[in-house]
Amino acid sequence: MARGKPLLRTERAASKTAPAQQAAATQTKQLAMVVDMANMTDEIANACIEVCHREHNVPASTDIEREIKWVWPEEFEKAFPDQFHGQMAEAYEGLPVLLMCNHCDSPACVKVCPTAATWKRKSDGLVMMDMHRCIGCRYCVVACPYGTRSFNWKDAEQSVETTYPARSRGVVEKCNFCAERLRVGDEPLCVLASQGTLTFGDLSDPDSGVSELLRTKHTITRKNALGTGPNVYYIVEDRLRERLSHGD
Ligand code: SF4
Ligand code: SF4
Repeated sequence: MARGKPLLRTERAASKTAPAQQAAATQTKQLAMVVDMANMTDEIANACIEVCHREHNVPASTDIEREIKWVWPEEFEKAFPDQFHGQMAEAYEGLPVLLMCNHCDSPACVKVCPTAATWKRKSDGLVMMDMHRCIGCRYCVVACPYGTRSFNWKDAEQSVETTYPARSRGVVEKCNFCAERLRVGDEPLCVLASQGTLTFGDLSDPDSGVSELLRTKHTITRKNALGTGPNVYYIVEDRLRERLSHGD
């Protein structure tokens, strides 16, 4: 039997929202990422980070307070402090959780931006940034509960390895789900570098890879109780089953 098209969370909520909020109901597509934790390794995580940061002209830094990062590894208990328990710790000990902007359904960053320099794109649900409109107030950095936004404390130099423009001092940046590649029909770079560990696609399409994974696998998202509706999902069941059953 053919499956019906699943409603996006924004569509499900539309009938209960005030008119000012119903603009979100016109969104018909939601791009999302699914990370398969069973196959994640340091090598794969580093490959994803390296290719993303090189392409997007993200400057290297050893200053942890002022570093710029679009995608980075984190320990399980720090990535999911609300879902952590002892067996999780055992299953994920020493394994990186790859973090990036969640392109949330209800992005806290967008709500606080005074210049509309960041917004949720109706055509595909991406949370975008216009560096030229950013005034560097950093309200979005504070509002994002996932720490995915970075502030440029100094002008970045244009790398010769990429044509992606370097950002100037005083603007905020983050993962853009490789919007510049999606525009020409290419997949995000981290997906290509992930050896099948990352799957990217449209949640409104019931036949997409991401929809299939969410239907068939147990997935979790970060800080779910906040109501932001993250669109980066993590498959956890296989890793737990594999490690705990073998006792390794
Ligand atoms: S993860 Fe943070 S920066 Fe990204 S859309 Fe959600 S609230 Fe905004
Ligand atoms: S989707 Fe693109 S911008 Fe986002 S982490 Fe992956 S490579 Fe970087």
